[in-house]
Amino acid sequence: MNKIGLILAFVLCGFYLKAQLSSNNICIIGNGNVQKSSTDNAVAKSISQLKIVRVNFHFIQKDDGTGNFNEVTDGDGRLKNGYVMAQEFLNRMNGFCNSNEALSIPIGNSIPVLNKNYKFILDAVYFDKSTAYYTYTSFQYPHALLGKNQNNVMNIYMQYGSTAQPGGSVIDISTTPGLKYTRMRSFWPGYLDQLATEGDYSGFQHAFAMSITHELTHLLTLSHTVLYPGADPCPANCPNYPGTDASCDDGCADTPTAEEVMAANNCAKHPNCGFNKFDILYCSNNLMDYNSGISLTPCQLNKIHTGLEGGLKTYLTCEAVKTDLVLSTVGFPNMSYFGKKITVNPPAPIELVTNNITDMYFSESVDFSNFSVRYGSTLDVIYETPCNY
Ligand SMILES: [Zn+2]
Repeated sequence: MNKIGLILAFVLCGFYLKAQLSSNNICIIGNGNVQKSSTDNAVAKSISQLKIVRVNFHFIQKDDGTGNFNEVTDGDGRLKNGYVMAQEFLNRMNGFCNSNEALSIPIGNSIPVLNKNYKFILDAVYFDKSTAYYTYTSFQYPHALLGKNQNNVMNIYMQYGSTAQPGGSVIDISTTPGLKYTRMRSFWPGYLDQLATEGDYSGFQHAFAMSITHELTHLLTLSHTVLYPGADPCPANCPNYPGTDASCDDGCADTPTAEEVMAANNCAKHPNCGFNKFDILYCSNNLMDYNSGISLTPCQLNKIHTGLEGGLKTYLTCEAVKTDLVLSTVGFPNMSYFGKKITVNPPAPIELVTNNITDMYFSESVDFSNFSVRYGSTLDVIYETPCNY
């Protein structure tokens, strides 16, 4: 693959999720998009402060509304709707954010294990009817048409794809808002397949949630550590991985390069080992590689927090509660609202209908008029401290 010269730059990252099939990573790059970024060598002053990033889920259906989760069912007759499924994903993604683990390479390292202090919150769930964007293809970008709140909420598109190749992609690891979205491929067929074969989808969902977390962490400026953006293994000056390439480097000194790892094992093992092999000697367990580990190093966390206290601050809940918000409707597709002073004051009475779940985050006040909450729905009103960095 030509790594330089294409107009669009994107990183496509796949985990393969079922044990009986081999690892299946598909990643594509362009634009000479080297891995080093504007946040290299950054030191974040707010790394100890928890940051919550707003995300939207989009379940993309065909034009007739079939082929994915919807407002009522899983698209295949079961009463599990997309709102519930999206929240399940969020819970799993935040589980990966709530813990960290020691980096497995280099062997015997003493790299500190810091709290990650970032996680995600569900802003809204959309069910887009678009046959044109239903199926994941390499050069198809639903964001311009379907993206919501693009400068303040990261958008996750759940698209169709063959069950053999789940994965995801991003196009932007900068600190500039706007193109902060990821396309995820093959969740729905994979979910149905695992239900049919095992009667349960939790293992698939776990792995897929990890893949979403990996993609969103790209959007928070991180690159792979031992792979090109396109997921080809970095060269390591070894017979099977010849040559060296200084651009195949994530810009963090505390994440060893493929060359360093292979030098330590006499070229026996490249650290890109494939899904569920992070506990094999010399295999990376970094979240930004493909081995299903969740480790992030101090340098990586400094890059994330530097991005979020800089240009990406607009995606944080603590920034969203600095501006007043006036609402005339409340409820699905939105699941969270943010404002300094939130005013719910529609011209005619409205209600939060049964089964809706809404959280309102405010920093000054919340005022309700002409608004009621129906039995069976949930409204939480939560104080949020504005960002102070
Ligand atoms: Zn990736």
